[in-house]
Amino acid sequence: MKLIVASGNKDKVREIKSIFTNYEILSLKDINLDIDIEENGSTFEENAYIKAKTIFDMTGEMVLADDSGIEIEELNWEPGIYSARYAGNHDDEANNDLVLEKLKDKTNRTARYACALCVFFKDGTHKIIKEYCYGKITHERMGTGGFGYDPLFFVEEIGKTFGQVSLEEKNKYSHRAKALRKLREVLQ
Ligand code: IMP
Repeated sequence: MKLIVASGNKDKVREIKSIFTNYEILSLKDINLDIDIEENGSTFEENAYIKAKTIFDMTGEMVLADDSGIEIEELNWEPGIYSARYAGNHDDEANNDLVLEKLKDKTNRTARYACALCVFFKDGTHKIIKEYCYGKITHERMGTGGFGYDPLFFVEEIGKTFGQVSLEEKNKYSHRAKALRKLREVLQ
């Protein structure tokens, strides 16, 4: 079955493909849609809804949108929905530098990833799912895998950051994988 992912983020699309193996996953690039959707919601759920609805209205196909980010306790749970552009541009390295700088000398390194998924069905109904993954922010980058904040996100159960593990390993614990598995159950 065809499922359009309302995202231009190739890393997210790769993770979605690795779990939704029974679907023909099409990114916006695959369907030649070059669109910058304004994410003006105030929660992950609202932004996921906005992205999915926009693409559903344009295509009439089944659409999945992901809105996700990292929340850090010491920073009053920032950057949250602003994770992608925390340091100004959509620049993972600058974002990681900024987090390390802000947490310099701080002992509370508690963090969590959040992922809201919104799926629009062809009949115009939709469903939203949200999941978390808990961890700690390291004092320096560890590993080069994953994307975004992964080299800083240490998961106790694995004893490594998401930057140090395979996608298979990340999928056992990640916010996105948990939400996708829940959604897969709903779809079945
Ligand atoms: P969005 O595209 O507006 O949902 O922004 C998501 C941003 O949150 C990404 O650009 C990353 O900075 C961060 N993020 C979300 N999920 C992950 C993840 O699994 N690993 C690393 N960073 C993530």
